[in-house]
Amino acid sequence: MPAPLRLRLDGDALVQNWRTLDRMSGTAACGAAVKANGYGLGAIEVARRLANAGCRDFFVSNWQEAAELAPLGLTVSVLHGVREDDMPAAAAGFARPVLNTPTQVARWKAVGAGPCDVMVDTGMNRLGISTDDIAGGLLDGVEIETLMSHLACADEDSPMNAAQRDRFAALAGATSAKRTSLANSAGIALDGYAFDLTRPGLALYGGVPRPELSTIRQVVRPEAQILQRRRVRAGDSVGYNARWTAENDTEVAVLNLGYADGYRRHFTNVGAALALGRVLPVLGRVSMDLVAIDVDAARELEEGDWVTLDYALPASAAASGLSQYELLTGLGQRFDRVWSVS
Ligand SMILES: *Cc1c(COP(=O)(O)O)cnc(C)c1O
Repeated sequence: MPAPLRLRLDGDALVQNWRTLDRMSGTAACGAAVKANGYGLGAIEVARRLANAGCRDFFVSNWQEAAELAPLGLTVSVLHGVREDDMPAAAAGFARPVLNTPTQVARWKAVGAGPCDVMVDTGMNRLGISTDDIAGGLLDGVEIETLMSHLACADEDSPMNAAQRDRFAALAGATSAKRTSLANSAGIALDGYAFDLTRPGLALYGGVPRPELSTIRQVVRPEAQILQRRRVRAGDSVGYNARWTAENDTEVAVLNLGYADGYRRHFTNVGAALALGRVLPVLGRVSMDLVAIDVDAARELEEGDWVTLDYALPASAAASGLSQYELLTGLGQRFDRVWSVS
C-alpha cells in the first residue's frame, strides 16, 4: 500500500548536478560518493543514474554498501578499507579497498591482493596513512589505482586547504598510484584541487557547501499527506509542551511526518510546508510521527491532500541549525522514494 509520506527525487537534477561538477572538475574525472545509501536517496537508484550519465568511480563506506551495489557491476572503492572480517568480501572482487592504516596495508600485502586505493592523511587526522610512512616505504610493492586524501575545511576559506593541497601534491611520484584524488564537493569549487579524480557527494544531492556551487539544483523534496484538519481557537496551543499558541483562530493541518522520518525537532516553529504556491509554517513541536502546519493561507486543503515540505538544503540548514549532510542522510525508511525520469 502507498505510504502517507514520500520523497520526490528529481533524476534530472541529480544528473545535471553531476554534469555541473564534472565540468567544474576540468580535465579530472568526476566520481560519486554514494555512501550512507546515496546520502539517504537510495544508493542503487543514484548509482544507476550516474553510471548512465557517464560516472565511472563510486565511493562507499563499507563492504555491506559495496555488496549492495555489486549487481550494477560498477567500479566501487570502499573508503573504510578492509578489516579481517571484510577479506572474504574483498576477495570476491566487486570492489576495492581504500587502505587507511599500516595494518590494513599489511593485511592486503599478506594475501598478495591486487589493485587497491590508498588514503593518505594530509592534516585532517581522521583516516589515512601518514606521509612519513609513505616516505618509509610502507607502500612499496602495493599496486595502487588511486592515491587520495581528504580536505578538512573545503567549505571554508581556510589556509588549511592550500596546506593540504601542497602536502598532497608533494607526494607526486612517491607511490605507484595511477591517479590522485583530493576534492570533495566543496573542493571542486576551489581552484587547483581537482588532480585526476574528484569525489563529490553532497552537491550531487542538492547540497551547496560553497557559494561557487549555487547552480546546484535541489533533488530531494519530502511530501506528506494531511491526516487531520482542525481549527485552533485563539489562546489554544498545538503539540507537545504547548510550544505554539494561537493569537487568532487558526486553520491547522496535521501531517503524517515526524522526526522518526528525519524531519527533525529542529524544525519546531521554524520549518514550513509549501502548497498551492503558499508557505505554510510549522506550528509547535515536531512529534515523532506528526507535525502541524498553519493552513490559514490555504484553507482549501483537506484531509488526504498532500503538501511538500520546504527542504531547500542551504536555507533549511540555516533555519534548523542542522548540516545539509544531516538533512539528507537522516531521511528515514518510511518514505516511498519516487523518482522522476532519468
Ligand atoms: C564523504 C566523502 C566524500 C564526499 O564528500 P562531500 O562533502 O559530500 O562532497 C569524498 N571523499 C571522502 C573520503 C568522503 O568520506
